[in-house]
Amino acid sequence: MSKALDITIRDVLYEARRNNKNIDKNKIFKAYTFAAEKHKNQKRKSGESYIIHPLHVAYILASWGLDTQTICAALLHDVVEDTNATYEDIEKNFDEEVASLVEGVTKLSNLFKTVEEKKTKNYKKMFIAMEKDIRVIILKLADRLHNVMTLKYLRRDRQIAIAKETLELYAPIANKLGMNDLKKDLEDGAFKYLYPRDYRIINEELKEKIKENKNKIEETKKEIEIELRRQRVWSIVKIETKNLYGIFNKAIEKNIKNIEEIKDLFSIKIVTRSKSDCYRVLGIINTIYSLIPGSFKDYIAIPKNNMYQAIHEILIGKSGVMFETRICTYIMNNVARYGITSYFSYVMNNLNKKRNLDFKENLSGIRDSLELENPKEFLETLKQELLGDEIYVFTPKGDIKVLPKDSNAIDFAYIIHGKLGNHIKSCKINNKEMPIITKLKNGDIVEIITDKEKINIQEEWLEEVKTAKAKKEILKILKKNKQYPKQEKEIEIIANDRENLALEITNVFKENKINIESLEASVNGKKAKIKIVIEIKAKDNIKNILNEILEIKDVIGAKIDL
Ligand code: MN
Repeated sequence: MSKALDITIRDVLYEARRNNKNIDKNKIFKAYTFAAEKHKNQKRKSGESYIIHPLHVAYILASWGLDTQTICAALLHDVVEDTNATYEDIEKNFDEEVASLVEGVTKLSNLFKTVEEKKTKNYKKMFIAMEKDIRVIILKLADRLHNVMTLKYLRRDRQIAIAKETLELYAPIANKLGMNDLKKDLEDGAFKYLYPRDYRIINEELKEKIKENKNKIEETKKEIEIELRRQRVWSIVKIETKNLYGIFNKAIEKNIKNIEEIKDLFSIKIVTRSKSDCYRVLGIINTIYSLIPGSFKDYIAIPKNNMYQAIHEILIGKSGVMFETRICTYIMNNVARYGITSYFSYVMNNLNKKRNLDFKENLSGIRDSLELENPKEFLETLKQELLGDEIYVFTPKGDIKVLPKDSNAIDFAYIIHGKLGNHIKSCKINNKEMPIITKLKNGDIVEIITDKEKINIQEEWLEEVKTAKAKKEILKILKKNKQYPKQEKEIEIIANDRENLALEITNVFKENKINIESLEASVNGKKAKIKIVIEIKAKDNIKNILNEILEIKDVIGAKIDL
């Protein structure tokens, strides 16, 4: 989080070096002077000089431990969009890496016909840049955080638009990247302006609740600390409250009228040294407190898609106060708070490549939506991918797959492999044959049954599937079929009859992946006449196929009605 007071370049440099030892202070300073010169006559809506904004963004990134290039790009991030500076200027004065980071967050200046088209084009541009370099989206998130924190200076319609986009797009992306602290800051900052009344009410009620329960929770915390110390488990115990937007969301989702009903309003976080200590802590606290049935969740054994790991459960303290415990190691805690950026600040030198990739994998839904051309469809699918709840389902071998809520076996098949989806014929859910459009539930075991010979995609599936991946692949096949519509053709073959002749002929079609609709044979003395109706697409090379048939022994002639 950036400081409330004005930030100077010295603060940025200090914070950058504190969190990342490889910082090049001179280069960052140079970026600052370049940007300050370019923005010198500009003011923000708050009346402050414009450079305050890039300085804040740079400071946020410095606090996350980002590298020299990203901090330079943060200082320069608005010069291409808002001043006369060009991509080439940045490349010349800095380098290609900094220039392409800036380019990645610069909006397209063209005029678009509709709001949707404009949004779609800009999102796609940003996500494509992110694909190449994940730092683009981290920079954009820092930019958005500062914009949300300074919303009060904007016109009401701008406030609403930015707040809405933050809740629909940027907070969910922060979540996908595991950046929980950021996600909460973005959510609460936007919530305040999008639903000011609800924000005020919840804020008041929460303050009231905290006042009411402070002592009980503090006592419980102390109790836990004493017991863990007695049993010689190293730990740090902290009290946390649910963020305001989180409360609002849960109230809507579960149709809750009273804040009392929210069971995880308070949580006591217990941070330990090792995984086995987490389970020791679990055993210890479950001996002291009663567990609310059904509340136990072990995200250490099965991490969330965004790498989040902890054990959650809701307990009742001795004084009757309900609280959630979250048990995790300090590494898990770090990943839970800072997500992908925890790798920049802690293991920058030998960046854990695999884990870094895992976060990118988590954005694959965005990647797949990029290929949807219709703006409405793109925005809707993107929203679904980002905001929808997730379900966990299993392959027959016990591998876990995470899918958006309401996904079906078609989605599941495509998530495993494109080919599996294309050839899906039927499915078994929990060992029982079910329609492939059945909505899957948490814990279902799904087996896909395919027909390798046939692609059996139906246009109606587009309405049924939830994942961008399935939509993308189905559209691809439908498009291909439109380009190459199928046609029925009849082939007539004359041959000297013998054993296995029909089999050899049908094999030619099979090898060329052509469906035979019907086969009719009549024998007149020694001569056989075979009529075959096939299904061909324009791309099939029918001449070659006829030649292959003519090469079969005993075939006298073959013709096709073209
Ligand atoms: Mn900006």
